[in-house]
Amino acid sequence: MSNLVEDYSYRWENDEVLVEITYSVAGVSTTVVITSRFTGKMMLLDVGDGALRDLLARGSIDFVNDIDVIAITHGHFDHMGGLYPLLGFMRMLGRSEPLNILAPAGCVEVTNVVHAFRQAYHSTIPFRIFIHEVGNNTGFDTDFFKTEAVEVEHFGLENTSGEDRLMPALGFRVRVGQTLVAYTGDTRYCEGAEKVVQNADIAIIEATRTEAPEAGFRVHLSEEEAQRLGSLAKEFLLVHRLPASVINDG
Ligand SMILES: [Zn+2]
Repeated sequence: MSNLVEDYSYRWENDEVLVEITYSVAGVSTTVVITSRFTGKMMLLDVGDGALRDLLARGSIDFVNDIDVIAITHGHFDHMGGLYPLLGFMRMLGRSEPLNILAPAGCVEVTNVVHAFRQAYHSTIPFRIFIHEVGNNTGFDTDFFKTEAVEVEHFGLENTSGEDRLMPALGFRVRVGQTLVAYTGDTRYCEGAEKVVQNADIAIIEATRTEAPEAGFRVHLSEEEAQRLGSLAKEFLLVHRLPASVINDG
């Protein structure tokens, strides 16, 4: 029996930044943790189920105040399902720093979770939460992370219209010092995805499908497409695979 968490986690680093994909499995959860080596400040790209558990497993609770920005690529549960518990933990431990949350404009899943959290705890939340709804080519800079959002094409699985209808979805380019970290989120092959990863020092790319479907609406990248995107970056990691149990059954 393999260690499932180790099988689905990844790590990349240089002298400016540490990038940890604490866990990434399609349809379950994905969380990317970027830590600045200059300041110790942290940024999360997506916050899937178990993000709090995986942050604690790193051996420190400094993240309670050190997370500066949480950038969420789209509203699918496997990319934002860990937000509520993380906010709850930050409240319980008395976070004082303001928290920035970036989400695609129109991403009701994220705004609803934050709204529910505020409604439940209102004046007992000891930190301010700023939700920034961002769109294509929107820049968002804090003292620690310089972020650019790029629109990508992700088909909404909840779309029952039979039309090729896309959901609000973004990839992110994050700069720490001279280092550029890129993350596609979920996407089919598109110009936006190319723009996300172009010249990145490390590109984190979803590679959910083992092969591209011949027809139908495209939801995810195939392994081959993800490799092709990766060639546009200096280095890349392929994440967001299907769970082994699904592949074995499929
Ligand atoms: Zn998705």
